[in-house]
Amino acid sequence: MFEYTETQEMVAAMTRRWAEEHLKPATEELESGKILPYELMRRLGQDLGLFEMADAKFQKLEERSRQRTEEREKQGNSHSPKTPASPEKEEARRARKLRQRAEEEALGAVMSRELSRINPGFVLAFGASTMLAGGAIMARGTPAQKLRWARPILTGKKIGAWGMTEPEAGSDAFSGMRTLATPVENGFVLNGQKSFITNAPYADIMVIYAKLNESGATLPMERRPIHAFIVEKGTEGTTLGPPVTKMGMHSSPTGEIFLQDVFVEAHCLLGETLETESRQGAKDVFHNERTGLMPLCLGILDRCIEISVDYARERKTWGRPIAQYQLIQEKLARMFVVRQNVENLQFKVWWKRSRGKGMSAAEASACKLYSARVTTEAALEAVQILGGNGYMTEYEVERLMRDAKLLQIGGGADEIQILHIARAMLS
Ligand SMILES: Cc1cc2nc3c(=O)[nH]c(=O)nc-3n(C[C@H](O)[C@H](O)[C@H](O)COP(=O)(O)OP(=O)(O)OC[C@H]3O[C@@H](n4cnc5c(N)ncnc54)[C@H](O)[C@@H]3O)c2cc1C
Repeated sequence: MFEYTETQEMVAAMTRRWAEEHLKPATEELESGKILPYELMRRLGQDLGLFEMADAKFQKLEERSRQRTEEREKQGNSHSPKTPASPEKEEARRARKLRQRAEEEALGAVMSRELSRINPGFVLAFGASTMLAGGAIMARGTPAQKLRWARPILTGKKIGAWGMTEPEAGSDAFSGMRTLATPVENGFVLNGQKSFITNAPYADIMVIYAKLNESGATLPMERRPIHAFIVEKGTEGTTLGPPVTKMGMHSSPTGEIFLQDVFVEAHCLLGETLETESRQGAKDVFHNERTGLMPLCLGILDRCIEISVDYARERKTWGRPIAQYQLIQEKLARMFVVRQNVENLQFKVWWKRSRGKGMSAAEASACKLYSARVTTEAALEAVQILGGNGYMTEYEVERLMRDAKLLQIGGGADEIQILHIARAMLS
């Protein structure tokens, strides 16, 4: 699979039209904070049929849950448990599911690419709600949790936020985590603070990671089990800070979440069991985020290339278009090469998934490290090609450059990806 399917091409063209028509004209106001991205996110989901498709899946899930409950009630507790499927059958089922997910993800990726070509910050806000918060609930939640909390996020009714990072826990998110969940009768009490959280100022549903603070716990804080909890906006003791001012990605509000003696009921524990902790679930989210950032890179690269090529053809110095100078041509050619490389990596991700496999942790880190770095470098070169105009907001590339920089920090900074890759190579 090293070319786009007809469906992917069609979805890309449709998304490009939508982005040109709706996202482009709104971008100035989104960037200045005059308007928030959420109304437009809802419009996107409705216009492109995303919410309808998501809701159809939830209807099936609802139906399956209802049937299971009925069966259980009919059989009482006396029925013999279902014979587990053979390992081969289980493996085939897993591979089939991965393939199906790969197809859906590829469609999502071409959409993200087209939206990022116009405004990567908007995609960050959308992705943090649907892929991070919604995705975490879908991956680890019980059917009831999926229906109650993931459904409204994935059908555009509610905004989600995914809270891992803390003031003292960034790259070392697990060991540095200080937010605590103390078990009490019928639930848990959460105390702590989350920082740099996308959508936090306006989030309706938050996935909050916390360390279990059982009485008499002997494990050192670094090694205490981590669990995820759903906290709804307005829960007593929860304060959402105002949007912070940042370098780029201005279309996505970022903020802090303060939790002071926040009581959440037992059913707010993601997965509803303390037996499997959420470290692996969070790692899966990180893993997906690493390859999930590639469409943003491609969108930024596409736009930087378009703007640079047009500008180089038009702008003359010493009576000749700057496109005729080899130093400028070298910059353009480099942008073209890295764009091809990022796209090929993206194809590799899809190809592996379509064969029922995932990328290894080191491969996913390599994808993120390479794509984020070359995208930031290319955006910086685009500014250079445009000279003084590149430095002006009117020409877009300075915004894309600021937006691109986040990709080297969020979801695990470059240095952390390098550590992962080297560790895998040396183990
Ligand atoms: C705009 C934005 C949106 C975000 N959205 C979210 C969100 O929705 N949810 C969420 O949970 N988080 C979010 N984050 C947080 C993001 O994931 C963290 O910023 C990131 O993981 C880095 O953590 P840190 O900022 O604490 O940097 P630090 O961990 O303090 O790192 C500082 C520097 O030291 C380097 N470093 C750290 N340890 C090592 C080491 N062992 N060896 C070599 N170098 C090292 C890092 O690579 C980095 O260069 C967001 C961040 C931003 C900026």
